[in-house]
Formats: sequence, C-alpha cells, structure tokens
Amino acid sequence: MPPPVFDDALRGYAFAVLKRDNFRCRYCGLDGSTSFANWLCLSWDHLLPKGHPHRDDPEYIVAACSFCNWADNRYFDLVTKRGLKLDGLSQLELVQQRLPYVERTRSAYREFWERNVARDHADDDGVA
Ligand SMILES: [Zn+2]
Repeated sequence: MPPPVFDDALRGYAFAVLKRDNFRCRYCGLDGSTSFANWLCLSWDHLLPKGHPHRDDPEYIVAACSFCNWADNRYFDLVTKRGLKLDGLSQLELVQQRLPYVERTRSAYREFWERNVARDHADDDGVA
C-alpha cells in the first residue's frame, strides 16, 4: 500500500517548505519541532503577491507561524506606499524586508498580552 497522501498544509503541500526551514517560523523563530502545539501553529507564507509570476515558486514561500503570517497582512497593499520593492530580491531579502512590520505588530500584541493576559500581569489585583 502506498503511503498516505495528505492534502492539508502541515502534512501535505507545505511540508517540504516547512521542512526546508527546519519547522521554524522565519520571522519569530517559533520552533514547530519542539512541541506539537507549536507545529500546529505553522503555516506557509508567500513572499510575493497574488498574480506575481513567482508567487507559487517554493523559493518564494517560507515557514511562518500563523501569527506572523497575518501580522502584517496588508503588506502587499502597502509595498509602494512604504517605498519597498519585491522584484529582484532573494528569499532572505524579502523576509528581512518584511520582518520589521511583523515585529511591530508582534510588539504591540506583546504589550497587550503583558497587560491583559499574562498570569502575572501588572494590574493583577490577586483576586482569583
Ligand atoms: Zn512567527
């Protein structure tokens, strides 16, 4: 019997890309190999917009956790406004170019998390 063929991202079409990137988010470093919960958070991130001739080339798709994947989800719409370009850049250059925008959203979420979600958050009055 042939091995099962999966048509989902994690086990199927994204697996080769995730494996190439060592199952780590290329933006925040979340490591999908260290826990099942982390692995479930992984997705693949297109570095080029819909309609670009190289969009579906695995060279221009990287591993990203789902948060980093959508953290700057207007990235392609804002490329021109931000004075960025997409053509002629390598995979690494495209990731590095996007990284500060992802990190900015991540920092804002971190602040919120520390204030409102983390067990020992600052305004915790100790009431259970
Ligand atoms: Zn991430």
